[in-house]
Amino acid sequence: LELEPYRNPAIPLPADIFPNRRNSAGIDLSDPLEREPLLDRLHELESRHWHAEPTFASGADAEIAPINKPHDLTAEVGTRRDTLDFEVEEAITRAERIQHGWNALGGERRALLLEEAADLFEEHTDEFLSLCQREAGKTLQDAILELREAVDFLRYYAGEARRLFEGSMPLPGPTGEENRLTLAGRGVFATISPWNFPLAIFIGPAAAALAAGNTVVAKPAEQTPLIAALAVRLCHEAGIPEEAFQLLPGAGDVGEFITSDPRIAGVAFTGSTQTAQAINRSLAARDGPIATFIAETGGQNAMIVDSTALPEQVTRDVVASAFQSAGQRCSALRVLHIQDEVYDEMLGMIRGAFEALTIGNPENLSTDVGPVIDPDAKAALERHVARRKKGGMPVWRRRLHRGANAGCFVAPTIIEIDSILDLKRENFGPVLHVVRYKSSDLGRVVEEINATGYGLTMGLHSRNDDTRAFVEARAKVGNFYVNRNQIGAVVESQPFGGEGLSGTGPKAGGPHYVARFATERVVCIDT
Ligand code: NAP
Repeated sequence: LELEPYRNPAIPLPADIFPNRRNSAGIDLSDPLEREPLLDRLHELESRHWHAEPTFASGADAEIAPINKPHDLTAEVGTRRDTLDFEVEEAITRAERIQHGWNALGGERRALLLEEAADLFEEHTDEFLSLCQREAGKTLQDAILELREAVDFLRYYAGEARRLFEGSMPLPGPTGEENRLTLAGRGVFATISPWNFPLAIFIGPAAAALAAGNTVVAKPAEQTPLIAALAVRLCHEAGIPEEAFQLLPGAGDVGEFITSDPRIAGVAFTGSTQTAQAINRSLAARDGPIATFIAETGGQNAMIVDSTALPEQVTRDVVASAFQSAGQRCSALRVLHIQDEVYDEMLGMIRGAFEALTIGNPENLSTDVGPVIDPDAKAALERHVARRKKGGMPVWRRRLHRGANAGCFVAPTIIEIDSILDLKRENFGPVLHVVRYKSSDLGRVVEEINATGYGLTMGLHSRNDDTRAFVEARAKVGNFYVNRNQIGAVVESQPFGGEGLSGTGPKAGGPHYVARFATERVVCIDT
């Protein structure tokens, strides 16, 4: 049965209202006229020392901790000054006090401020790229993509502020009453973000909360506060009041202290499933109003490759999905399922491309795979690989470069396993697992993928429309990618987010996201 896609004409999409909005252009590294001046400017920034501290730092006895490069633990990029408990309390008080005024500004004026911030982010491209490389260990290409996404979030959510928060929606009044519905900020939102997208996922939820009329206290990951500090400073320069958007650097205990405060009206969290569950429990246990909880969490992402797939395309997309960003994307491919008939050929080609990856310093343009974020991440991945080796499963590993011991490098690894259900948790790094399946078992394969409970991304390589329809109808995932890699999501075109153990929704960069940060009020007037 073929159905026409249904489109409710009463619900305009952002693109209907702002047809001229465009995502940012990024930088073309293949063009020497763009690349060479950028590399010169990055070179000049190599010795810049950065610092992150709370927006209203007042505690004199706070400790200062160094932030070192993940790829060279002896090289300091900057320092971090954590937020003390009383500073968290004061920050929430300030944010609460100004929230009414920020909300009363209206959607249009908040949009203008967010757009000004987007322009400033682009003007500071060099600093952001340098920090993404030096603080987070990103390759230049990954850093460019990250900045683009951050800018796109700011502009898209600015559009959402105009679309949803200017004026109110008239409702029917059959009995002669005047009825209208208005969206407004909920109060103070806490945004808690991970290190793997230290700019885009730091600024995206904060921008959405601000667009909706909330004030924000933002805790970046302890590994990447410097990028966040630059982002917050530029937002203040753009005209967003300091009280409305405050940086609260620190480790998990600072996040825990923020979310347990009953004055926090909502939490937008991105990170591991385990932390999301801990925050969920803490929100449930605290006094005060019931908080909104938006969580974007981990995945056990699978790809299925059948015998009709194009081997070269599969090879390119598998290698990108599993090893780009050193496998440290929430969307990254963890478990590749290859149909029996083409298993040996496909795995051989993938191993060939895997052998050609350049592993090393992400500040070198030729590097494909950089470091993982810190020694703990490296140790957890090494433990996983060692356990699998001990279990007798075939394991292929790349040899690491000379000097790798100075940083947190994990050799890209491919491991054969029997089933995705053999894996008990997400392995967040450059480790790909491979499963062989018979075509008659396709239904069971999809069932097992669903049975992990995660539901973030899934990939399929097949030229068979029936297979595509079969898998698409059964896959319980937020983002399903066919005949392409399964990493990357473009703001507005491919809103991103999972279900089940992978998150609560709504999708970042999509038309329902900003509204989730708002409360709805109805006014009814008897005329
Ligand atoms: P994480 O360990 O869960 O940490 C995320 C953030 O939560 C950090 O800022 C962390 O502080 C903070 N935190 C830790 N414990 C807390 C607590 N009890 N209360 C409040 N905050 C707390 O995750 P991560 O290692 O940074 O990030 C990697 C994970 O993020 C992966 O699982 C990945 O799949 C997921 N991710 C998901 C998406 C998505 O869109 N679905 C996107 C990106 C990443 P610290 O700095 O001290 O750790």
